[in-house]
Amino acid sequence: MKKVALIGIPFDENSSYMRGTALAPPFIREAFYSDASNSFTESGIDLSKEGLIHDRGDLMAPDFEQIESSVSAALKDDFAPISLGGDHSITYAIFRAFRHSYPDIAILHFDAHPDLYHDFQSNPHSHASPFARIMEQGLASRLVQIGIRTINAHQWEQAKKFGVEVVQMKDFQPARRFEFQQPVYLSFDVDALDPAFAPGVAHREAGGLSTREALQIIQSLRGRIVGADIVEFNPKMDASGITAASCAKLLKEIASKILED
Ligand code: MN
Ligand code: MN
Repeated sequence: MKKVALIGIPFDENSSYMRGTALAPPFIREAFYSDASNSFTESGIDLSKEGLIHDRGDLMAPDFEQIESSVSAALKDDFAPISLGGDHSITYAIFRAFRHSYPDIAILHFDAHPDLYHDFQSNPHSHASPFARIMEQGLASRLVQIGIRTINAHQWEQAKKFGVEVVQMKDFQPARRFEFQQPVYLSFDVDALDPAFAPGVAHREAGGLSTREALQIIQSLRGRIVGADIVEFNPKMDASGITAASCAKLLKEIASKILED
């Protein structure tokens, strides 16, 4: 069983529409450690037990190199890193670290958007492009996307080119189970959730997953999760704090799934 390392990543320089995801880490932590809830996961693991979760704090003014090296350091120490906050562009930097430890790895990607643009606003590292960069460099051997409800012709072409398994929201069956032979990384863009459950995002797209549907996918997943990110949470759009609570819940159950193994 791997222990979990938490890494806060306050980075939103590659956001195309609205900044603010750099503010996310302390809000997720506050909800995660809040006395409003206890520290038990739904499967009965007490996350407050000494040594299960190692909080490595937030990176200071990170760039891609620093993100890569901090994730590499956590992997070297044999942790399963879960990064908190940031826009989705950071997943590419994280994967540059993962390739050394996991040359054969799958990604389960929750998102309203496929993030497969070859070129978006002339920024190769836009948060609309991380999975194009990851797949063209062969950093993942399988990519499964869930929650998708904005795919256009260009991104369909990209999905075909890279062999991406796109599960569109319109075709989603709540009973669907996902299975992975190789180690799996979970990349969770909070806008995969319906804005009714998680309004704190820049790109609100109605018709998404309920928090419970997302949790069920995670809890029923067959495979070994070796890392995760929770990205695109924008506290500026989260007047009620409900999105922070949703992120904290996802964090708890993802950590639980890692620790159950
Ligand atoms: Mn995304
Ligand atoms: Mn998105």
